[in-house]
Amino acid sequence: MTRMILKGRECSPGIAIGPVCLLPPPRPVAHYRLAQKEISVERKRLHRAMVQTGQQWERLLEGHPRLQTQSPYQILQAHRMLLNDPIFKESCEFFIRREKINAEWAVERTGQQLGVALGTTDETTTFKRQEDIQAVVHALLQNLSRLEPFYWIRQARVKNRILVTDYLSPQAVIFLKQLNVTGLVTQSGGRNAHSMILARSLCLPAVSGIADVKNILSGRPKAILNGFEGTLIVEPTREEERFHRELLSKHQVLEGLLLREANQAARTRDKKRIWFEANVELPEEVPALVKYGAEGIGLFRTESLFLYRAQPPSEKKQLQIYARVLTQMPNTPVTFRTLDLSGEEWMGHTPVNPALGLRGIRFSLKETRLLETQLRALLKAGANRLLLPMVTSLEEIEQFKKLARQIQKDLKQKRKILVGIMVEVPAAGLLIDQFARAVDFFAIGSNDLIQYTLAMDRANEQLAQNYSLHHPAIIRMLFQIVQNALKAKRPVYLCGELGADPLFLPVLLGMGLTHFSMNPLSIPRAKKMVRLLSAKECRRRSRQLLQVSRAGAIEKILKSFAFKLDTPWRAG
Ligand code: PEP
Ligand code: MG
Repeated sequence: MTRMILKGRECSPGIAIGPVCLLPPPRPVAHYRLAQKEISVERKRLHRAMVQTGQQWERLLEGHPRLQTQSPYQILQAHRMLLNDPIFKESCEFFIRREKINAEWAVERTGQQLGVALGTTDETTTFKRQEDIQAVVHALLQNLSRLEPFYWIRQARVKNRILVTDYLSPQAVIFLKQLNVTGLVTQSGGRNAHSMILARSLCLPAVSGIADVKNILSGRPKAILNGFEGTLIVEPTREEERFHRELLSKHQVLEGLLLREANQAARTRDKKRIWFEANVELPEEVPALVKYGAEGIGLFRTESLFLYRAQPPSEKKQLQIYARVLTQMPNTPVTFRTLDLSGEEWMGHTPVNPALGLRGIRFSLKETRLLETQLRALLKAGANRLLLPMVTSLEEIEQFKKLARQIQKDLKQKRKILVGIMVEVPAAGLLIDQFARAVDFFAIGSNDLIQYTLAMDRANEQLAQNYSLHHPAIIRMLFQIVQNALKAKRPVYLCGELGADPLFLPVLLGMGLTHFSMNPLSIPRAKKMVRLLSAKECRRRSRQLLQVSRAGAIEKILKSFAFKLDTPWRAG
């Protein structure tokens, strides 16, 4: 093969160098009709495959404590829920009984039917995603065919190779890591595909979205996968290989260094102190926060306690969890966000447009019983920083505070609690000065703020290129929010993923932000970045950006700034 550079999307950072392995697709499944007397045998076969699949997933997780946290845990948990969902099983059995088709076919039909029925998706209910259904169907088909799990991966010699494929389930990614695959390239999907989330958690470099890559490549060419830039260099030159090997070793050294320095306070070169707290989804994550240098919890997403269960957790159960989190984080700020769920889904309907529906504080104020139970548990546990999601009006804040006062009165509590709001809808961004009179702090939720400002679904892969942090409207909106909050003398911090973006962090510092909350794994790197920056220089550069009117030009300026800092994670 001749040398070429294929461009995709960067999904999991890191470098892999070595031969490529093209993964053949799994065998197509047989479809056949059953005689009446075969039906009960077929149902038993289905049942056995379901039990086997569950057991295999359990075993797969052993030895991967990193996967017991955050998003990977939720994804894998969602798959288990779907596998054990009576509706899923009943639907498969229905096809076997009524249509007299074999179990494989019935599982496929159920997957297709569920996929169509679920339609619109929302990232808060991950188990409803097509991807999840596909993963469960794939695993069941293997067990039904009495093939070893991941048989088609076992057959291909993948050890120490960069694997190229069209589809991968999250479980397959765990298996590939165990087989010492060095990197992943997929034709479709994007950063938020579940397999890619797993790849990041397992530190497996990955690139997605290289169209037709399986047809472009032939044989087992040598390649360099650059997960920082989203490229695959096929048949690289010696010079390219040397450069990337150096980059890789620099990166490894840096990762170790970053962790060693993680617990030191972050100050810019001109001595401006910057604070970093953690975004947390599961109580199990809390003990590890110290290792990453988190100076508190800036966002505890309480939704995870409510998802994937038939009944909401009791007050007693919630109290235990909140109290444990508070004891594990003594003398540091801990901010609990009240439930940010979409109400339609909670009530069992498939919402037409969950992101614009009865979500966050709107839902909590409508379904006050859930909120009251949660508030009682939080207040009894001693929480003193509460954060409200999706606020758009002063009335919502007032209604919440009235409820909180009433509960404090019932509990005979007089202590002061701080109430903050997420600024994640443009309406809140525009009303900071008015809201400042009613709240104690602001937390900018850039993930949603970008989605609502640009009217682009943050989970929609087709919009992944356009859902841009660099859009001039986002820069202007953020500037206004920070300035108006500071003018109103209210603390403001950012808790969206934007803060963890090394290219964007200097701009945020330049706007005047000094507090951030982010995925704990990103904290060591963000602290390092701060130490390389001068607050004064950041201010000057970020102001320049206000005059730029195209996202492409903004991105270029940010890259050139990072380039000057000579950081190993700089973009090309
Ligand atoms: C946000 O919207 O930026 C945010 C932090 O909240 P979540 O990602 O939970 O919606
Ligand atoms: Mg949000």
